[in-house]
Amino acid sequence: MKTSRTSNPAPLGTGDLVQPEEECGLFGIYNMVDSATHTALGLHALQHRGQEAAGIVAYDGEQFHSHRALGLVGDNFSSNETMTQLSGDMAIGHVRYSTTGGTVLRNIQPLFADFKFGGLAVAHNGNLTNAVKIRQELVQRGCIFQSTSDTEVIIHLIAISEYGRVVDRITDALGQIQGAYSLLAITQKKMIGMRDPYGVRPLVLGRLGDAWILSSETCALDIIGAEFVRDVEPGEIIIIDDKGLHSIKPFAKKPNRFCIFEYIYFARPDSVMEGRNVYDVRKNIGAELARESHVDSDLIVPVPDSGVPAAIGYSQEAGVPFELGIIRNHYVGRTFIEPTDHIRHLGVRLKHNANAAKIKGQRVVLVDDSIVRGTTSVKIVEMVRNAGAKEVHMRVSSPPTAHPCFYGIDTPQQSELLASQYDLEAMAKHIGVDTLAFISIDGLYRAVGEQGRDLEMPQYCDACFSGEYPIPLVDHEKNPMQQQLSLLDEHK
Ligand code: AMP
Repeated sequence: MKTSRTSNPAPLGTGDLVQPEEECGLFGIYNMVDSATHTALGLHALQHRGQEAAGIVAYDGEQFHSHRALGLVGDNFSSNETMTQLSGDMAIGHVRYSTTGGTVLRNIQPLFADFKFGGLAVAHNGNLTNAVKIRQELVQRGCIFQSTSDTEVIIHLIAISEYGRVVDRITDALGQIQGAYSLLAITQKKMIGMRDPYGVRPLVLGRLGDAWILSSETCALDIIGAEFVRDVEPGEIIIIDDKGLHSIKPFAKKPNRFCIFEYIYFARPDSVMEGRNVYDVRKNIGAELARESHVDSDLIVPVPDSGVPAAIGYSQEAGVPFELGIIRNHYVGRTFIEPTDHIRHLGVRLKHNANAAKIKGQRVVLVDDSIVRGTTSVKIVEMVRNAGAKEVHMRVSSPPTAHPCFYGIDTPQQSELLASQYDLEAMAKHIGVDTLAFISIDGLYRAVGEQGRDLEMPQYCDACFSGEYPIPLVDHEKNPMQQQLSLLDEHK
């Protein structure tokens, strides 16, 4: 494989910690000239899913070519030199981010390995919940790991599988892992897409002329003018090669548990997920919020950008004007991506400013998508009060985030989650608002088109709100501290 890198690998030897696979975006294309350029465009549309690092592996019929680098897609995949080197008509790419320092190049995806059957590149969105356990077993057997990423566990399982055909090896490996995953892989002959049996993380199939595309979100199909074909189904493995596309479902069917937080915050509003437009869902949540927790007010103000669709829905339902009472500076990344508390606080100040002309003397309802640590809310409320608001109310378009995610959304450990420490009244006081309300869990389910949350068999994964984890947390239950340690290091 030819590899080019823009930063130096960090030293090896960080023990056997396996890191959660955090907040990533995937894009792959088969049978397209300039496949890497199309992939770079797709990744650019998925940049909101990870801003810390990006990578593309392309195959030209003879060789794999790889470029992986820290930073944004546009900064790393725009030069002629890089794109020419990534030749071939099949490519996969990945964007990721970390919440803490210690990001190392060897963890940037796609990961690549040479096997008995040839080369294989793999990119992963999600988080395996038994990777530490498997990794320890593999290390006992003599496997040598190159990265601290849990994706490498899959690569080793494929390597040691006793099956012959690559798809059987992959199926064998997937049968041993637990957790949330959408995976993309290319071999010398095939592009393969996989979604875990619960379908926690998204993956969609698209078509552009004779080319096939697999992507985390439909917005990445739009950017290259591709047509959306369908969602990859939970538990489905899609194999694309010169014979066309075929699909297998080798695992026992599980109840669908798509991540409801994709709708609330994570996905791009112009994407369609599981048949629903994300923007519409967010507006519905806002309308539900307005019905559930009315307060007399003069102005509905979103915390930009993520609060905007819900605030529009709220404003339309409440019949109260919507105004951009807070302006966001777009040249600062999402609050969370800054690695330290100090910078995170600073980030909030750098990012938002009150539009005092609109706010002064008004009874303002602020709408945001979630309260995690509460850092953003505290700053924003203070800013809005300083701008002369008469009353400040906060409406949140998710239920209280009281539990960490172990399935691929980056959340801090539980003790740092405001809602795990405080009740509603204490949260309102801490944030400094006159009133505070969150969407109810049933209201949220109504907004995504259900009657409410099915208590026996919830239709989505809502573990961050309910604390009900649909997939066993093998590593965490065995050793919560180890999981916490791993949270301190690498994320993607
Ligand atoms: P906090 O300031 O800790 O309460 O974080 C809440 C803000 O972070 C909200 O405005 C959200 O838009 C955003 N947010 C929520 N969850 C995440 C996440 N997993 N990754 C990045 N940003 C997030």
